[in-house]
Order: sequence, then C-alpha cells, then structure tokens
Amino acid sequence: MNTKLPSLPASRISYDYPGSALCSMRTGGPVDILVDVGSISDLNILMRELNWESTRYLILGRGSNVLIPDNGIRGIVIRLEGEFTQLLSDGDILYAGAGARISNLVSYAIRRGYSGYERLAGIPGAVGGAVIMNAGAHGAEISDNVISVETFTREGLRAYSKEECQFEYRTSNLQGQIVLRAIFKCEAGDTNKMRGTRSEILAKRNASQPVQWPNSGSIFKNPKSGYAAKYLEEAGLKGYKVGGAEISNKHANFIINTGSARTQDVIELIKHARRTVSDKYGVLLEPEVKYLGSKGEIVEGEV
Ligand SMILES: Cc1cc2nc3c(=O)[nH]c(=O)nc-3n(C[C@H](O)[C@H](O)[C@H](O)COP(=O)(O)OP(=O)(O)OC[C@H]3O[C@@H](n4cnc5c(N)ncnc54)[C@H](O)[C@@H]3O)c2cc1C
Repeated sequence: MNTKLPSLPASRISYDYPGSALCSMRTGGPVDILVDVGSISDLNILMRELNWESTRYLILGRGSNVLIPDNGIRGIVIRLEGEFTQLLSDGDILYAGAGARISNLVSYAIRRGYSGYERLAGIPGAVGGAVIMNAGAHGAEISDNVISVETFTREGLRAYSKEECQFEYRTSNLQGQIVLRAIFKCEAGDTNKMRGTRSEILAKRNASQPVQWPNSGSIFKNPKSGYAAKYLEEAGLKGYKVGGAEISNKHANFIINTGSARTQDVIELIKHARRTVSDKYGVLLEPEVKYLGSKGEIVEGEV
C-alpha cells in the first residue's frame, strides 16, 4: 500500500502484519499496515496526515469479535495502546482508556471495591470494542455503568452521553466512531463478594466454553425466542465441520479453529448453521461476530 506515514514517536508501525495474529479466531491474511498508536498526540498526527475520506483505516481492539478476510486488509489497522490503556479513578468516577483490557478493568474495579464490573469477567477484548458492542454476560452489560464515552473526530474530541450512545443488546450508536475513553460510575460493593462472583463466572466459562481453542466467542446473537446455542444444538450442528472450522462440541454457539481453518471455512460454517436453523425452526439467527472486508470495512449481511 502506497501510504507514507508520518513519524509517530510513541507508536509502533508494522508492515504486512499477519491478520491471524490480530484476531482471536487466528485466521485471516496480512494487513498492509498496523499502527499501535501510543498517545493522543500521535493519533492527532496520524489522523491529520491520513486523508480521512480516501484512506481506509480500521480501529481494532483485541480482535475477539471480528473475522479478518483470508486475503488480508489493504489499508491501515489502528490499535490503541500506550496511554490509551490507562485506568484511573477520581472520587466516584472511573476513566478507562479504549485500549484497556476488560480483564484489567474488572480487576481494577474489584480492587477498589467498585461493584457492577465483576460479571464482565472473562469477556476478552478491550474497553473500546466492548463499549461499541455493548458487551455483556450473566445479566450485566458494560453500558450499565457508563456515564459517557469520548470519541475522536475531525473537529476534536466529542463526548457522547449514555443516552446518545443508544446502547442495545450487543450494539450501540457508536459503530463507526473512534472510541478513545469511557467514563464509568463507581458504586461501593463488597470486595470479597465480588471476587467470589468473578471466580464463579470464570469457572463457569472454563467449564462451558471451548477456551482452549481459538474462537470468536458467540457466533450468533440470541434471538428473541430463546438461546442461539439451544437451536444450534437441537439442530444437530455440534461437531459439524467445514475445512478446519468446527461447531464446538462443548458449546454450539462457538465455532473453533481446529488448527488449519481459513476465515472462509468459518463463514461457510456460519451460513450452513444459519440455513439449517432457519429451515428447521423458522428462526433466522443474526451473527454477532463482524466480518471485515478487504479494505477493513464492516461487511453487512450475507458475505
Ligand atoms: C472466548 C470469548 C468469549 C466471549 N464472551 C463474550 C461475552 O460473554 N459477552 C460479549 O458481549 N462478548 C463476548 N465475546 C466477544 C468479544 O469479546 C466482545 O464483543 C468484545 O467486547 C470485543 O472487544 P475487542 O476489543 O476484541 O473488539 P474487536 O473485536 O477488536 O472489535 C469489535 C468491533 O469494535 C470496533 N472497535 C474496537 N475498538 C474500537 C475503538 N476503540 N474505536 C472504534 N471502534 C472500535 C472494531 O472496529 C469492530 O467493529 C467473547 C469473545 C471470545 C473470543
């Protein structure tokens, strides 16, 4: 790709970076340029130099909810690292950088006795991706504690109030924005009880999810009529394979990479599972995982 990048002292720039190392499914081809941006001043320089209209860029978190195409990404992938991974609290407010891992946010909150974060334990990924996706589990969602979310725009920083974020089940109004930081409320809780809840949840996840295999978490959102995993299991899809991708025998809403999977195998498997459930039960499952196109764009609908 013929883009000349400016000097970014607090950042790391890599060329032809393996896409499979950027996502938890461990599939996908090389991305032209990966920039791990370490500071707000570097981000300012980078975004000023890039032509926002004509240069394809993608902001990625830990890649735990995306599929990278087998032919890779012809564009710039940006991850927020360095100062964007900071967690700070001031009185009853917690500031979390978009690059901070959810596991660190949960530990930080529990250590300080802030409740309402412990049920997010075990969700991989970083704050930015989790806020965009309104990640959640065990009756909790990351949006529960959000006061506001700060984004980076051409005109400068912009704060979205919780209402403006329009959080819903596994989505928000922040799709397409560059999320830099989330501001959360802190309510006092019992640290020992929170530690106990976290341990229980982590044990449950280890027992029920194929955590030893590369995967992208839940492939489908739960439909209004029930659990996606139940439909998939009852349709006899556990163990069904396409190439190196397999519907997990442990949890039917997980697809695992058994070692040699390509992204296309995963996509074909998703299509097959969707068709099978639709034919048997008349329920059209909606993918939770996002497909990326060869320019880093989110591909909507059938791929
Ligand atoms: C084993 C496993 C278990 C999981 N369990 C759960 C669960 O219980 N509940 C749940 O909700 N999810 C779960 N997930 C899915 C995933 O972890 C969440 O959706 C997570 O919040 C995604 O975060 P990420 O940083 O990996 O985002 P990514 O996958 O990197 O990105 C997701 C989307 O957000 C965008 N994005 C990321 N960061 C930014 C940013 N700073 N600014 C703008 N856009 C951004 C990306 O472009 C992409 O569109 C699981 C995944 C795995 C692998």
